[in-house]
Amino acid sequence: MAKVNIMRLLPSVDELFKHEKLAALNESIPAVRIKNSVRDALTALREEYLARKDDPDFIPYDEDEIVEKVLSRILADHETSLKKVINGTGIVIHTNLGRSLLPEVVRDALLDAAFSYNNLEYDLKSGQRGSRYTHLESTIKELTGAEDVLVVNNNAAAVMLALNTMVQGREAIISRGELVEIGGSFRVPEVLKMSGGFLREVGTTNKTHLYDYEEAICEETGILLKVHTSNYHIIGFTETVDGRDLAELGRKHDIPVVEDLGSGLFVDLSKYGLEYEPTVRDTLAKGVDVVTFSGDKLLGGPQAGIIVGRKKYIQAMKKNQLTRALRVDKMTISALEATLRLYLDEDRAMAAIPTMRMLTLTLEELAHRAEVLYRNLLRKVKTCHLDVVDCQSQVGGGSLPQERLPSRAVTIVPMNMSLNDFERRMRLGKYHVIGKIHKERYELDVRTFLEGDMEKIVDAVKLALKDNGRASAE
Ligand SMILES: *Cc1c(COP(=O)(O)O)cnc(C)c1O
Repeated sequence: MAKVNIMRLLPSVDELFKHEKLAALNESIPAVRIKNSVRDALTALREEYLARKDDPDFIPYDEDEIVEKVLSRILADHETSLKKVINGTGIVIHTNLGRSLLPEVVRDALLDAAFSYNNLEYDLKSGQRGSRYTHLESTIKELTGAEDVLVVNNNAAAVMLALNTMVQGREAIISRGELVEIGGSFRVPEVLKMSGGFLREVGTTNKTHLYDYEEAICEETGILLKVHTSNYHIIGFTETVDGRDLAELGRKHDIPVVEDLGSGLFVDLSKYGLEYEPTVRDTLAKGVDVVTFSGDKLLGGPQAGIIVGRKKYIQAMKKNQLTRALRVDKMTISALEATLRLYLDEDRAMAAIPTMRMLTLTLEELAHRAEVLYRNLLRKVKTCHLDVVDCQSQVGGGSLPQERLPSRAVTIVPMNMSLNDFERRMRLGKYHVIGKIHKERYELDVRTFLEGDMEKIVDAVKLALKDNGRASAE
């Protein structure tokens, strides 16, 4: 192939744009998008040709190949950015993979909220303007025993709103062991500063006593703050002050006590063999004045921040201008209401809420799943080594950080490519399977699979192991 001619073998943007296969896409993909993708695909091809122009083995693509490449480029460019993935990590509340999955009953609620007018801020009885915050009130009160309720965009917003309303230029007394950072950017001291309050740290990293709080109380004290150390755990010589004692101290000095619980929990998980985590009801029963928690961690609902507690503080928060900026939309309200109603019957909640269900799967169920996947893979794929191993799932989402749930994983070791290559192909392939490389094997923990995932995984493994390079086709 003569060097000079090589670039001429590529068609022009206009020629390609008029190709019948591309013209057929015009129905579903806007022309500007197609043109941009064609241009980018041609640029990539030109670069490839230039890079390989001195390579004696290089054979330029024929027209069909070029059209195929351009087509797949257009389709890839036009894919939605938010994609379904298969969670093979065993981390149930996986913050990077969208945290909690909603229960099936939410589907209808969401469709109604999205496609019908509703009484979001309309009081049907009086025919007057209503409040969006009333919809969740009675259910949350029933589940937690709270006097009053406010739901905002997420728990970070809930903490900020509570601090901004209740500290008001004064000090929040907090233990040095609870000055935590959650999810990279949410740091308790920074949030307090942003909300216009001042930090008064007491105690040490490992030990804080009730007298540490008491000695720090002064004219400037706005609140006593307790933050659940969700995502880490100090072991050894430690001491923290229980919410009950802190609440008593607060009452004695007429200072409100706020607790950021992190994960919102309505069910005592120790009944199901997990570590005990305080429920929202237990925390309020200790006398804590205001409790904040997430909607999409252990609670298993949509992203939301829920604030419960004494009426006078919640009422003050409702009047705070920040509330308007942090408000929840109708989709969240409807999804949260449908999720919360399940908790009125604990058995139903445990069965219907995916987060609860995944956390309480038995080892027998998990072992069965692993066996089914293993056998199906054994039948359908050849060029890899397969096995079923014991593994440990995590709760995730900064909840129950020490809990390790015994589970089963199917492991795959490809024969014709590296583990890293295989992992990348699984991740980028049609189904976006997210697994992990552990002890020189590719590992899929079956705990976080959804219905239908196993068939897709078999297909994904088949596709990943297939050598789809051009060289092998020739
Ligand atoms: C997760 C968490 C938050 C933040 O909650 P989001 O719902 O993610 O905004 C705040 N505090 C604690 C203790 C948490 O665990």
